[in-house]
Amino acid sequence: MSGDDDFVNFHQMELDDRILKAISIVGWAKPTLIQEKAIPLLLEGKDVILRARTGSGKTAAFAIPLIQRILNSKSNADEQITSAFVLTPSKELCQQTRQAISQLSSLCGKLIKVVDLSSNDTGAQKHVLSERPDIVISTPGRIVHHLVSGNVDLKKMEVLVIDEADLIFSYGFEKDFKKIVEFLPAIYQAMLVSATITEDVVEMKKIVLHNPVILKLEEPDLVPESQLSHQRILAETNEKPAILSALFKLHLLRGKNVIFVNTVDRCYKLKLFLEQFAVKSCVLNSELPTSIRCHVINQFNQGKYDIIIASDEKMLDDAAGTTSSKKDKESGVSRGIDFQCVSNVLNFDFPLDVSSYIHRAGRTARGTNKGSVLSFVSIRDQAMNDKVEERLKAGYSSEETIIRNYQFKMEEVEAFRYRAHDAWRAITKVAVHEARIKEIKQEIFNSEKLKGFFSDHTRELEVLRHDKPLKTVKIQQHLSTVPDYIVPNSLKRIANSTNKRTRSTHFKKYSLAKAAFESQINNPLSCKRKK
Ligand code: AMP
Repeated sequence: MSGDDDFVNFHQMELDDRILKAISIVGWAKPTLIQEKAIPLLLEGKDVILRARTGSGKTAAFAIPLIQRILNSKSNADEQITSAFVLTPSKELCQQTRQAISQLSSLCGKLIKVVDLSSNDTGAQKHVLSERPDIVISTPGRIVHHLVSGNVDLKKMEVLVIDEADLIFSYGFEKDFKKIVEFLPAIYQAMLVSATITEDVVEMKKIVLHNPVILKLEEPDLVPESQLSHQRILAETNEKPAILSALFKLHLLRGKNVIFVNTVDRCYKLKLFLEQFAVKSCVLNSELPTSIRCHVINQFNQGKYDIIIASDEKMLDDAAGTTSSKKDKESGVSRGIDFQCVSNVLNFDFPLDVSSYIHRAGRTARGTNKGSVLSFVSIRDQAMNDKVEERLKAGYSSEETIIRNYQFKMEEVEAFRYRAHDAWRAITKVAVHEARIKEIKQEIFNSEKLKGFFSDHTRELEVLRHDKPLKTVKIQQHLSTVPDYIVPNSLKRIANSTNKRTRSTHFKKYSLAKAAFESQINNPLSCKRKK
């Protein structure tokens, strides 16, 4: 780990001003550990193997030196060439990488052209490739198609990046990978990023890297406690909906939230429940088409939604490779999908094993941002809660309790219990089933619209929303507002003292003073919200 004395900040890395400005626009105050170590090595032109987990800032670790290198070579280039190729195992990662590169090169004018081959149809790609974009990003299958068809020429490529390298072979792309190598020039700089250094990665290394520096940064799979807080509310099944509605309606949870439940049905049940309280949310589960999942995540990252309800953490962080769908192996891989600026992970249903807890927790406190995990723990969950606690203590080498009690007084929100009880009971199995079908139909319809649109038709995409009410349960209008008499006393005092203000200002005000009511849930992040 870097000591404070030898810490290297972005502005000490001799980066182009345009990159530095883009970094400050994105709002990153300092490099993450892997950026601090990898960027200088890559700027020197070294081959690097980087063992890094998702969320460690690995994309920018390779994107920043890549952009710098292209800016350098463009200043005295006399022809346009494709000088960098980024290989990733999934369409989602291609998209995410393209967005990161576009953001970091946003002030370079049209100097840096980047194309993601996973998005458009192959005909359109052929045209784009004929213009020799500076950076080509692709999944193995797509690039092989274009290489074999002669649509793309990588013979002048200077930099090769392989992201999530351990997944490339394990998802069955070995043959494609070896084919790609046949089209590469003899000399280039290579960077390989991988969560684990498996035998496959070692084999890949032999094929594409020359005497690389291996950066195995000793990063724990959990970010430090100072960055990520763990809290719980002891709640039985029948109490959970009331607490959840109180948390949202009293604005005790601020920022963006990912709520986890244990089944797809629960996902819809919770969405229908929140819908009755006029709290909008999107669902995310493995039943939805990949393009939709990507679109939901993109819009969430842009700040269009505040709440995602997810039913399957493995779909979101697929370390086990369980989603390597045989139907479309390039769209099933979700490891590395990035939810940006998530303030809170809320375990509405406590995870069924320790690694699920860790995966879920990994959705927040990304990069250098802060985050919190808040879990509802029933008596039945207690044993698993203890196992998680043990794991966290070991991870943090601490004797102290890690998952602290969130100070929540059930009696203070008694009125929410009645309202929530009615709302929860109104959601029958039939309503959930209908909602599930309705959502899928709606999203498949959206998906048709989305085909090939991701990169080119951003305006049209704006109008597609995924948090529309499903309306398979009768909406009870009175639930959408919070009458004064049900606001807990500890918050009322503050609300009353500001009675000249508007209602929305009231809420802002007492969320500021929520410390009286809750312990401290970690909050907002430096992330900028775009509405
Ligand atoms: P990655 O590991 O590339 O998936 O990045 C995880 C998240 O960290 C992304 O949301 C980035 O926007 C964010 N990030 C990357 N670098 C930094 C940084 N230096 N400071 C704060 N956040 C960062």
